Amino acid sequence: MNRRVRAKTVCTIGPACSDRSVLRKLIQSGLNVARLNFSHGTLQEHTEVVQEIRRLTEMLKMPVAVLQDLPGPKIRVGTIRGGSKSLRKGEEVTLTVGKESKEEESEEIPVDFPQLPQAVTEGDSIYLADGAIRLRVLEKEENKILCRVVVGGTLLSKKGLNIPNLRIKLTPLSSKDRDALLQGLKLDVDFVGLSFVEEAEELLQAKSLIKEHGGRAAVIAKIERKQALNRLDAIVDAADGVMVARGDLGVEIGVAKVPAAQKRIIRASNVAGKPVITATQLLETMVQNPYPTRAEVADISTAILDGTDALMLSEETAVGRYPVEALQVLLNVAQEAEKMPTPEASMFNQASKRDVKEAMGGMASWAASQLKANVIVAPTRSGLTALQVSKRRPSIPIVALTPDIKILKQLLLARGVYPYFVDEIQSIDDVFREVEALVLKERWASEGDRIVIVAGDPAEPPGTTNLLEIRVLKSSKVN
Ligand code: PGA
Ligand code: MN
Repeated sequence: MNRRVRAKTVCTIGPACSDRSVLRKLIQSGLNVARLNFSHGTLQEHTEVVQEIRRLTEMLKMPVAVLQDLPGPKIRVGTIRGGSKSLRKGEEVTLTVGKESKEEESEEIPVDFPQLPQAVTEGDSIYLADGAIRLRVLEKEENKILCRVVVGGTLLSKKGLNIPNLRIKLTPLSSKDRDALLQGLKLDVDFVGLSFVEEAEELLQAKSLIKEHGGRAAVIAKIERKQALNRLDAIVDAADGVMVARGDLGVEIGVAKVPAAQKRIIRASNVAGKPVITATQLLETMVQNPYPTRAEVADISTAILDGTDALMLSEETAVGRYPVEALQVLLNVAQEAEKMPTPEASMFNQASKRDVKEAMGGMASWAASQLKANVIVAPTRSGLTALQVSKRRPSIPIVALTPDIKILKQLLLARGVYPYFVDEIQSIDDVFREVEALVLKERWASEGDRIVIVAGDPAEPPGTTNLLEIRVLKSSKVN
């Protein structure tokens, strides 16, 4: 685990990591969560990546969680002849639906969404490739749409297509997504990302599907549509974690509104105590270059100051030329940003509900700062105690001890939390014994140091936090 940086990292795995030494270097540099983008790649490829991660995790003794990102109802263009097509401003192009593009019709752009002609009217804007290309609808037929290119560019096969404020409701968790989700559960993924979420109900559906199949993956709500922003609190409440999906969000609400939306989404997630990932274009120029722009560095710092738990790389690590360098830049910038003074979240003004865990988490964080403790230790079966401390964003590391490997992996996404595996703890006395032994062994603190322990009585059900203890570590030999 990377102890220099409290923020967590998510890296998308792709062809740039096919040389296995890249994956190893990413893990050694501080990768916490490996993201498998199920919009690309085959099941075989994803399976191999998961196996390789498990092997490296064992070998390096560095835990890494796996996030399966489901495509969701994302509209995409199909296969374009030759792989790409250049669209020039002012020219006319035709989008076709409902049939596989035939070679002789290759001047047309196939789209994988049969209802597209019904969903648009003359004058509408259609965006391609994360908004890089813009078309205006001129006229439509049953299975064709004639458009004029307003902003041109080179369109590659399988790129995304967005129509802001689409009038047709897309099916969330389609049968294709369900199948992919079940494949992910077979791979025992730790997180499942749901794309284009619009309402809390979709998350609950995914959760019950996971439960039905005996899975324990946590569900991440990707916020990338205006409708999701309108129902943000309910969505955050239903999710286990959240993603600020700035790529599609920028197209859907307009890029100028993304920074404010980012702050709002992060804030709502922090208040709810749910880990939040800031995603897309953090180091976009590092896809090609070994060095970032000043603007990218400022963007990463802003995400840290906004209170994000994790920072995500997409193309930078999936298809970029400098995957390892990009992660290292990300970590270095995050480390510097974390040195900036930020007001410690007050334990009094953030309580979302009357919740004992929340109050205990707040007190542990506050006491640790007041007393300049070396570490806050949270033995936790459900992970909730550690999350409640993390949401206060203390500058002191939070060491979580859990007997549940799934919870351990899921805590890898929470800012400032360093999880360790321990055997099931039986009594309060054992809690203190285990805690002291671990912090000394792992060198989080040494003899004479002050530590803050926040825990639940092992006799109570998981999820109970009712104990706060401040100790000075005695010599391990005396004990
Ligand atoms: P994607 O999601 O990379 O799966 O599209 C993230 C985003 O839209 O920013
Ligand atoms: Mn997206």
